[in-house]
Amino acid sequence: MSASALEVFGVTLSEERIADLIQKSKQWALLHGVAMRPQQNSVSASCVEYAPMTLFPSLIPVGVLAEAKALQQHFNLLMHRVANDHVFLEQSLQNVIKVDSFMQRLWEIYTTVRQEGNPQPASLTLIRNDFMLDVKGSCCEIKGIPASVKLKQIEINTISASFAGLSTGMWNVHRYVMMQAGKETHPTQIPENFPAQGLAAGLLKSWQHYNRESAIVLFVIQSNERNAVDQWWIEKELLNLNRDVKIKYATFQNAHENCKLMDDRRLFLNDEEVAVIYYRDGYMPAHYPSEKEWNVRLMMERSLAVKCPSVHMQLAGSKKIQQELARPGVVERFLRDPDICRRIRDTFAGQYSLDLGSEGDKNVAMAIDDPKHFVLKPQREGGGNNIYGEDIREFLSGIRLSEERNAYVLMERVFPWQQRNYLLKEGKPTNLRDVVSELGIYGVYLGCDKKVLMNEEVGHLLRTKSHDDNEGGIVAGFATIDTPLLVQEPVKSQ
Ligand code: ADP
Ligand code: MG
Repeated sequence: MSASALEVFGVTLSEERIADLIQKSKQWALLHGVAMRPQQNSVSASCVEYAPMTLFPSLIPVGVLAEAKALQQHFNLLMHRVANDHVFLEQSLQNVIKVDSFMQRLWEIYTTVRQEGNPQPASLTLIRNDFMLDVKGSCCEIKGIPASVKLKQIEINTISASFAGLSTGMWNVHRYVMMQAGKETHPTQIPENFPAQGLAAGLLKSWQHYNRESAIVLFVIQSNERNAVDQWWIEKELLNLNRDVKIKYATFQNAHENCKLMDDRRLFLNDEEVAVIYYRDGYMPAHYPSEKEWNVRLMMERSLAVKCPSVHMQLAGSKKIQQELARPGVVERFLRDPDICRRIRDTFAGQYSLDLGSEGDKNVAMAIDDPKHFVLKPQREGGGNNIYGEDIREFLSGIRLSEERNAYVLMERVFPWQQRNYLLKEGKPTNLRDVVSELGIYGVYLGCDKKVLMNEEVGHLLRTKSHDDNEGGIVAGFATIDTPLLVQEPVKSQ
């Protein structure tokens, strides 16, 4: 039986009080920058509404959040080493790039820059490592909390990881809602969270590394970006850290018109030199509608600017690499400490290659036989691309003899802890429903191949969606922003 945070604390509220809290929480969201542009193209780009969010925070065992945070620096280093291991990248991705033209284009940019010699050895990654809380092995619940809650990594985002801004505001909203609901929480129960500041610190450090006072930080953005407020947050935090940094925004189209690469590989936007390129675009095929965008991406990657991320880190963040990392001994190829390797491995769900060949044949047969226990994933980001349940059977049966299946990986389906909550989305009904959450941990890594300049864990994100929605994107309209309310793990009697 799932319960809401309030029910677990023994608080019940009338429908009238709930309706009042919903109104108040929306006001507090707007006051704290938990805002987004409306889904419909609005008349004005400065028109925003509260972002999709939960009314109440969701329960997270304190040790689970602590473990996810403790592992983040190691995940950062792991990804940095993976991205800088050419042989591993090539072996892992060679079958994918044969059949996936988007991955192939990224691969071409990577190999072009590699052959020419990358003028900028430093690379910045602003990571978000996403987990679900698996309760498959839990025998029972004790006072509403499952006896066993395990972190299971869903994916690691190495490009354009979003919502650091909105989650910086969200914990304030939930502290307020809990207080208004008559259950004031201790500050350690809904912890402070400043991921936007952490990401901004990574951008600042990269700008300092470039070491030219007049050079700018360039945010590469999409036109009509719904999640613009999240980017403004990072701009604000960056300026709070250092007033001297100049930030500019440009789409690939703007950059095509106004950027040029000098012979010495310095990149200019009009007459301003670019120190850091922060991509909030460029992670899906639709972001490259023509050769123009690909040319701009190549120009940026060839430049002296510090890229966030460099194209090799974008490749390292693909689902195929995640699946290859789950093979026995592969994490250990990159990290030495056996205890850390074990703890990282403990967060991995089953991952299976579908590459043409006998191993892949076995895995295809396994998925077709029992599809509800798997998720089929292409090499795509941004939500809405995965295939679930019965659809897997039909889809895989159609491509089982074709190389096309190399473009996918098969992942064990995680069945996360269900709680109850109200999902607040403008224009949608807000009844109490069964929900599941996904916990993201933000990491910052700035380094050259062998040298670490910055490696930090900088905060968290909780996203919550209806338990019967497969996909999890907030901008895509499924999930909502949430905050962890920390609880002790139940003490199990023997
Ligand atoms: P994307 O890059 O599109 O965000 P994800 O791998 O994060 O791709 O998958 C999108 C969503 O699908 C996740 O947010 C999660 O809700 C759901 N999902 C992905 N993998 C699993 C899994 N193994 N078990 C259960 N749900 C999953
Ligand atoms: Mg995701």
